Amino acid sequence: MRRLTASVLKAALPAALYYARVLPTMPTPTRAGWVDGGLCPFHADRHRGNFRVHLTTGAYGCFACGAKGGDILAFHQASTGQSFQGSLRDLAEQFRLGSGDWP
Ligand SMILES: [Zn+2]
Repeated sequence: MRRLTASVLKAALPAALYYARVLPTMPTPTRAGWVDGGLCPFHADRHRGNFRVHLTTGAYGCFACGAKGGDILAFHQASTGQSFQGSLRDLAEQFRLGSGDWP
């Protein structure tokens, strides 16, 4: 039985896949690294270009409101208000990682 840890989750769930799913206004990326994340989910954003996500590390940042974090777990916690452990479980469930064998 695997334990669900941040590194297990991040190995199983690429940041590019996660952000493509949760950021409906993100344009299809045409390159790696930092890309346009579409409209910022952390403020009432009406103009593209402020919100960036990193497709490899999962880091995110907004030039307008200052929201930022280092990985998809930080993003998920901030965007859903869940705890670290809650975010881990929620992501494993949403993306059907493993088969419910997490502790
Ligand atoms: Zn913002």
